[in-house]
Amino acid sequence: MRPRIMTVYGTRPEAIKVAPVIKALEESDVLDSVTVVTGQHREMLDQVNEMFDIAPDHDLDIFEHGASLSQIVARVLERLDPVLEAERPAAVIVQGDTSTSAAAALAAFHRQIPVVHLEAGLRSGNIMSPFPEEANRKLTSQIAALHLAPTATSKANLLAESVSAESVVVTGNTVIDALLMTVERKTPFTDPALEDLADSGRRLLLVTMHRRENWGGAMEGVGRALARLARQFPDMEIVLPAHRNPIVREAVLPQLRGVGNVTVTEPLPYGEFTRMLSLATVVLTDSGGVQEEAPSLGKPVLVMRENTERPEAVDSGTVKLIGTDEERIVDEVTTLLTDSEAYEAMARAANPYGDGRAARRVVELLEVAYGANPN
Ligand code: UDP
Repeated sequence: MRPRIMTVYGTRPEAIKVAPVIKALEESDVLDSVTVVTGQHREMLDQVNEMFDIAPDHDLDIFEHGASLSQIVARVLERLDPVLEAERPAAVIVQGDTSTSAAAALAAFHRQIPVVHLEAGLRSGNIMSPFPEEANRKLTSQIAALHLAPTATSKANLLAESVSAESVVVTGNTVIDALLMTVERKTPFTDPALEDLADSGRRLLLVTMHRRENWGGAMEGVGRALARLARQFPDMEIVLPAHRNPIVREAVLPQLRGVGNVTVTEPLPYGEFTRMLSLATVVLTDSGGVQEEAPSLGKPVLVMRENTERPEAVDSGTVKLIGTDEERIVDEVTTLLTDSEAYEAMARAANPYGDGRAARRVVELLEVAYGANPN
């Protein structure tokens, strides 16, 4: 039997970023792929698997409404262990910085199975923001055997923490592979209202938010800023695919009640979301993945955070950090919608995160590292 590479993932952003790697592993002549979903997210995770035609081999089914971070971590540890014992993979891939990825890395480490960390080396420098992601990725860096850094900056972060240089490889971020695989399909919108909007040629402000550190008052302020912008620019439509988390919805949606030119949707399937991204005039987000994707499409991104572990697109000018202050959000969006010079300065395609071939590079590295090493 060929050595098996197990990929463990549990949330939408992880699913999007591991999908190109799983697809490339399925084509490998030297390695087999085993996939495990934890179910940290449920519908949003299943949506992505369906889109990429991935049927997970194991489903730990840990999702429970209102579960605490410790409950999520405990369940992953407990339920992944027997799967590791049964499958005996040559290595385990974890992606990024979720509770799933940190717990899965620890579970593999406990069984002395090498951990391959995809999207390694991102750092905001503030352990409380993003929370708990900054801690999760640092914890994973302590136990990973192979660190796959998306950029030279993330590699430098790891080296600064004394991670050995020979265990770090810059591969690019697989999110760009996923984006390029998907955006060219120009996926039709399931909701006819979105298709009408796409045809209307109106300016679109695409908004996503979910970060734990923005829950509560900050998100209410964002909601108020959106309502003001909608009134100020009646020719523009705000499109808000609302995260499934009820805490997010309860903070934002009441502020938008009765405002005409706002379309609130369920989370869009990845194909539809990337099409919406390609149609957007401006993107307002606190997402990590969207910060990486939008620059590739030449879209100005205003990031509702105080810091970022993704400084590359800030440096290239496509992304601007603006925080969550209501006045600031209104001002920054207004500038981009009224000042064409300011808009053009940001709306430049930039690809600091990858060239769309990261997954192939990752699998080539894995073939060399684990191909002849059945467990
Ligand atoms: N995304 C999606 N549908 C949506 C909103 C986002 O498919 O309605 C995708 C987006 O393209 C990106 C990823 O989800 O690849 C980002 O997920 P999220 O913002 O939840 O997490 P983060 O990247 O901040 O960890």
